[in-house]
Amino acid sequence: TPHAMAAACIFCKIIKGDIPSFKLFENERLLAFLDIQPLSLGHALVVPKHHGAKLTDIPDDSLTEILPVVKKLATAMDAENFNVLQNNGRLAHQEVDHVHFHMIPKPNQAEGLG
Ligand code: 5GP
Ligand code: ZN
Repeated sequence: TPHAMAAACIFCKIIKGDIPSFKLFENERLLAFLDIQPLSLGHALVVPKHHGAKLTDIPDDSLTEILPVVKKLATAMDAENFNVLQNNGRLAHQEVDHVHFHMIPKPNQAEGLG
């Protein structure tokens, strides 16, 4: 059932506070937190609080709110260079079945870490 799926979902547990995370931004409808295995310093994830596995499961009005938060994070981190990534399905490298947007800063070479 959809409820059992959400109960087993690691990001739903993070949203509920059952699993700790380093939160970067939160409102009633979405949460941004640091990725536990960052590809670079500041690698962040933005997720809707309502469970949906893929982009195609998320209502439009919920999606509309996500990119401005991605933008806010990139601005706050002063990330001049960064990638926004959103994977759907195993063959597209989705590991966590709760829709999420990656914001991955690309550090200047002199700064190291990628
Ligand atoms: P995907 O490959 O599904 O697009 O990315 C899933 C991301 O979630 C990975 O970058 C992974 O490091 C991150 N992740 C998985 N489990 C946890 C967790 O428990 N906490 C946090 N903060 N990130 C997680
Ligand atoms: Zn979930």
